[in-house]
Amino acid sequence: MRELLHNVIRTRTLLGDGAMGTQLMIAGLEQGNCGEAWNLTEPERVLGIQRRYAEAGSDCILTNTFGGSRIMLNRHGQRDNVTEINRAGVEIARGAFGTRDGYVIGDIGPFGGLMEPYGDFTEAQVREAFEEQARALVDAGADAIMIETQTSLEELTLGIQAAKAAGAPCIIGSMAYDVTRDGSTFRTMMGIDPERAADCMVEEGAHIVALNCGTGMDMERARQALLRYKAVTDLPVMVQPNAGQPKLVSMKVVYDETPEQMVGGVVPMLEAGVNLLGACCGSTPDHIRAFRAAMDEFAVAKGARYENQTV
Ligand SMILES: [Zn+2]
Repeated sequence: MRELLHNVIRTRTLLGDGAMGTQLMIAGLEQGNCGEAWNLTEPERVLGIQRRYAEAGSDCILTNTFGGSRIMLNRHGQRDNVTEINRAGVEIARGAFGTRDGYVIGDIGPFGGLMEPYGDFTEAQVREAFEEQARALVDAGADAIMIETQTSLEELTLGIQAAKAAGAPCIIGSMAYDVTRDGSTFRTMMGIDPERAADCMVEEGAHIVALNCGTGMDMERARQALLRYKAVTDLPVMVQPNAGQPKLVSMKVVYDETPEQMVGGVVPMLEAGVNLLGACCGSTPDHIRAFRAAMDEFAVAKGARYENQTV
């Protein structure tokens, strides 16, 4: 049996993958269409993206199931395919590693709405949707479940509880922070700071505390968030910043931080004690390859035992 993800990253920093959404667009997915349905209709294209991440050196790959909950899929007329889409997502991610070993992280993004009394969805509906998705991912063999791009403690809690109910071997809670207007700090859109988020994750029984995406959260800001997590919890920390700020170029959203620019933040992040490092929107296999080289160099410099090909 594979060693549990949250245990292995306590002794050795692992490398995650890069963006899926922006890569799907490059592969031909049209804006507004259902990228998760590609797990069934275009599995080769999804596999191609994830294989490039595996080849670039990722130790962990996120399933292409960000919007794979019943509530999200319903917007694309795919609500009857929850189990199939999520199962296929795990199988494709596993296949991307080929013969080498690696961790498949079952990805669960926000349900995409607001709960009562602010919105139309009941807590029970959201809980049910998360549980259904988490169960499909765990049953298909995901090594972990990640509840990501979260902004509220209510939804984060429902996600973690759903992963727990599904029997996930490892649960990751990941928040999306935005740098405040005056630039002095960062918090989620719903006003949650890293300390409160970490407290909530610890209380709910998550195994890894994480942050991803967000606004203005470059490698340095993400490192600050990592340190704030480390100050309040002993749990391992996962970090996935975007490749810079989104910019609108000829009606298309682009992220233009190059691998060379982003990789400059890798060593400071390692020195700050990151346990799992990947990247979010706009990052590419080239970013991950640069991360891999920097991480390996760091490990050699530290004299750490390191095996490049196997986890
Ligand atoms: Zn992102």
